[in-house]
Amino acid sequence: MTQRSASLTIALALAQLGWHVFPLSPGTKGPLANCKRCDPKTQPAHQIETCACIADGAWCHGVRAATTDPARITAWWRRAPHAVPGIAAGPSRLVLIDIDTHGEELPDNHATALLPGIDLRTELIGEAAWRDRSAFRTGRDSLNLLARLRGGRNPWPSDAAHQPLVVTTPSGGTHLWYRAPEGVTLHQALASTRRALAWKVDVKAGWSYGVAPGATTTAGTYTITSGTPASIGHMPDWLTGEVIRVASSEHRDTTPAPTRATATSTASADRGTRYLLAVLNRGDTQLREQRGKEGRKQRLAALAYQAGGLIHLTTLTERDVIDRLTDTGIASGINAKKAENIARSSLANGQRRPLTIRS
Ligand SMILES: [Zn+2]
Ligand SMILES: [Zn+2]
Repeated sequence: MTQRSASLTIALALAQLGWHVFPLSPGTKGPLANCKRCDPKTQPAHQIETCACIADGAWCHGVRAATTDPARITAWWRRAPHAVPGIAAGPSRLVLIDIDTHGEELPDNHATALLPGIDLRTELIGEAAWRDRSAFRTGRDSLNLLARLRGGRNPWPSDAAHQPLVVTTPSGGTHLWYRAPEGVTLHQALASTRRALAWKVDVKAGWSYGVAPGATTTAGTYTITSGTPASIGHMPDWLTGEVIRVASSEHRDTTPAPTRATATSTASADRGTRYLLAVLNRGDTQLREQRGKEGRKQRLAALAYQAGGLIHLTTLTERDVIDRLTDTGIASGINAKKAENIARSSLANGQRRPLTIRS
């Protein structure tokens, strides 16, 4: 079988199971380039929701073009036979737990860095379970620590209902594909930020994506080692809880929110919330119209800074606003990790300079 037909075969087989597919570059694993009309380098960005290209069957806007339509998928691979199928997590109702095995050293503050949002020194777990830094070499080690802490006696039930699709990546990492929990909106949570599930363990959900199981990039093949795409199990309850903790906008940060004026009446907090939401909506539109990658990053930073100045007047949490800003950044074409970093740091800067709304 040629490379070309293998990619298309995988894409069609997964699409038939309801997995939303779109083409990735085999080298960078990023989406294929937009058409000229949708190219943010030469054209003002526009609303993805109303972009004619996607309706016309183009692959513009990456994950946002993902589809289960076999005719569209076949046409894409006819045009780009070497493309690698990517899977849009949220539309496919999947969650990808992405366990990394290489990269940076364990940070010095490993009592708080191993499981972001959890201070191991305050947990009912013996120091022996985590004190030895050399015991943590990959994301598997940190995820197993989380399982030990939150997963009870049998953290990884082996019955069919809990069976993930397990994939070994070319770099030796592991992908666990699970069915997404119902009734909750998830976002990605990356190991490079405070929001990871565990050190070197990312959550890909919502508008984030992963390389399709079985697909081959220039780095190698994403090999299925257990489970089947046709029957993906759900996460054990403790893991669902932890994924919601780090990857849902309903999540409330464990670090105390910056103090809000106690005199703020509900009415004025509502007014502040409406005002900030209006600012974010306007910023969203402006960012899509902004030309050039650097320009968009600067505009996102300015928007996040302004939001940071206003958040104390609202009923929104930092997490709500960072999620919203990150989504705005991603929708305008900024890399997801970059968007979240900009949102988080600029929001924090803005919070140091609280603004007031003039009546
Ligand atoms: Zn477009
Ligand atoms: Zn286009």
